[in-house]
Amino acid sequence: MFKKYKKELSFNNQFWLFLLIFLLLWINSVQAQESTSLNIITKKLSKIHTKLGTPKSGEWLSIHDESGQTFIEYKRCRPRLPTAQRKIIYIQPLGHFTSSQKKIIKATAEFMGYYFNLPVIIKKALPLSIIPKKARRQHPSWGMKQILTTYVLHNVLYPKLPDDAAVYIALTASDLWPGKDWNFVFGQASLKKRVGVFSLYRNGNPGKSEADFLLCLQRTLKTCTHETGHMFSMKHCTAYECNLCGSNSREESDKRPLWMCPECLAKVCWATKASPIKRFKKLISFCEANGLGKEVEFYNNSIKIISHGNIEKNKN
Ligand SMILES: [Zn+2]
Ligand SMILES: [Zn+2]
Repeated sequence: MFKKYKKELSFNNQFWLFLLIFLLLWINSVQAQESTSLNIITKKLSKIHTKLGTPKSGEWLSIHDESGQTFIEYKRCRPRLPTAQRKIIYIQPLGHFTSSQKKIIKATAEFMGYYFNLPVIIKKALPLSIIPKKARRQHPSWGMKQILTTYVLHNVLYPKLPDDAAVYIALTASDLWPGKDWNFVFGQASLKKRVGVFSLYRNGNPGKSEADFLLCLQRTLKTCTHETGHMFSMKHCTAYECNLCGSNSREESDKRPLWMCPECLAKVCWATKASPIKRFKKLISFCEANGLGKEVEFYNNSIKIISHGNIEKNKN
């Protein structure tokens, strides 16, 4: 009887071992299929993207020697990714905003959700009075009031970081400076701590005109998506005209597109388990509703080239 029990146990063990091997092989094959289909999409999309040319004097790549990062390199670098437990993008308004700036924040939060295929929550605004005197200054020559980014990151955001946050981002209308020897920054993020702070101060006055609103929206969307890409371990892009390209000036960042190149798109879709076409469709409806015509056309062409291999096919 003992022998029989032993035999049954060994049969059971073998069964579970086979099941485990089967499951591992299956998971591996699903992941390989996903990667392959993203590689195919990347190849198709490359036809409508512009390769980066030689940088002009003063531009980011004329000063910074960066090697870039392909989709394959990204997967190999053990990137910091959103997980089932940490998948929410939290937006933290900080300080006073005009009604137009409030609209920009709401639209940015919505866009971030589509861009990264993650849920977004806008937290209750925090007053600027929580920033102590030691973390504020008046710029010594320009005179505008500024708040210290490192204080916001480490003393305001990090202690309140929600457990389920993929990232926790503060948006403020105040100008920012990151410390000694700096005049200002558009924003700063702590990649390990998953917190970031970005400013609308230098994005123009969205209340002035429709064009100014659009410009402020585009700039805010670019900053938030570019920096969040970094928070998910994406390096600067050196391959194409892309939202993940480094910028040395406002002029250079205004020139960059809001969309990502095929390599960077593959990283985001792989990292957030997004379907490229579903993602493009959500972005198109956002861009249509918000007057971003160039983006609507580009995302529509992206869908056409993935579906038909040709952007002319759907005309007539
Ligand atoms: Zn960057
Ligand atoms: Zn790119």
